Amino acid sequence: TAPSPAYAGLKRIRVVVRKRPLNRKEISKQQADIVTIDSDDTISIHEPKIKVDLTKYVERHRFRFDQVFDQDVGNEQIYRCTSYPLVESIFRGGKATCFAYGQTGSGKTYTMMGKGGDSVGMYALAGQDIFNMLRSPQYSHLHATVSFFEIYGGKLFDLLDGRKKLQALEDAHQNVCIAGLKEVDVDNTETLLALIDVGNRARSTGSTGANADSSRSHAILQICLKNMSGKPSGKFSFIDLAGSERAADTSDNNRQTRMEGAEINKSLLALKECIRALDLQHAHLPSAARS
Ligand code: ADP
Ligand code: MG
Repeated sequence: TAPSPAYAGLKRIRVVVRKRPLNRKEISKQQADIVTIDSDDTISIHEPKIKVDLTKYVERHRFRFDQVFDQDVGNEQIYRCTSYPLVESIFRGGKATCFAYGQTGSGKTYTMMGKGGDSVGMYALAGQDIFNMLRSPQYSHLHATVSFFEIYGGKLFDLLDGRKKLQALEDAHQNVCIAGLKEVDVDNTETLLALIDVGNRARSTGSTGANADSSRSHAILQICLKNMSGKPSGKFSFIDLAGSERAADTSDNNRQTRMEGAEINKSLLALKECIRALDLQHAHLPSAARS
């Protein structure tokens, strides 16, 4: 079925949060669960504090979102409430973006990609709906291309082209385009997932750890609708952002790691400026943030 225009005409930006369950390490260390869901749009963080007289008390911070989800809510439901209503908009020539924001370990990649196997995330769920819609005669004039790149240290790398370095260019109309970005024709979810797999293997590894550490770069997957002549006609971007941890939270004193952290903070700050400008419906984005 076609997506309902549930959010058409509503806010341009929606922010939802899902609580993640305590992981095995947290459970084994008997760490406390400090997040409670108060209602369908409010959560509380209960932060343990120690008073001057050394008695403990708990400070409560409440946060409101457009919607909050408890830890047992699966990716399908998250998808239905967030990206799904936007799928239709790209078939009307629109541009839609879904960001996953949060500190490392908070569940961004789990949300975007799933755990693998039967556990799917936004990429596959959106892909499935987009490819299904493209199979209907109504959209026989359209096809989809997929691009996958990352931003690491302020530079762009094509994950579908051996991590080739790319250049972002701005045309006279302030449209940003990425020169030479590889775009692969895709018409089914299996191919999409295979490409994502190729891209993930190319993703940058942290300079310190021996293991691949994708938390230091932003990964951008784009599904673009093109007409017969290859002209873009709608685009969905999925962005698995770098970890939002504060510099003070990283125990690593390695210079490169700190530089990476500074770069990430700079780009997340620019993102904040962009979102603020969009939310206020300003005509122009701050120029420093545009790039
Ligand atoms: P991030 O990408 O934000 O660094 P991950 O998505 O890799 O974090 O999640 C960290 C770990 O927590 C992974 O092992 C993941 O499977 C698990 N996890 C995250 N969110 C959930 C969730 N909602 N339910 C179950 N496990 C989750
Ligand atoms: Mg991740």
